[in-house]
Amino acid sequence: MSAPKIQTCPVCGVKIMTGVVGGDRVMFSAGPPGTRARLWARVCQYVEKAGCINPQGGAQAPAKADFYRPDAPQ
Ligand SMILES: [Zn+2]
Repeated sequence: MSAPKIQTCPVCGVKIMTGVVGGDRVMFSAGPPGTRARLWARVCQYVEKAGCINPQGGAQAPAKADFYRPDAPQ
């Protein structure tokens, strides 16, 4: 088991805890923790700046069914 690591996105200022069972956890400044997909949906998709550590929602694809995903990995 590896210890969880916390990364902070220099663009969004959001903390992402990696190495956690069940997937990465995003620590928002307010509200309960969420997933990278939620972070992306809430913040990163609007930021679109180089240096964002969550440019596409990470490995956790957005849960929205209306996203166009030509080659969904799962
Ligand atoms: Zn970001």
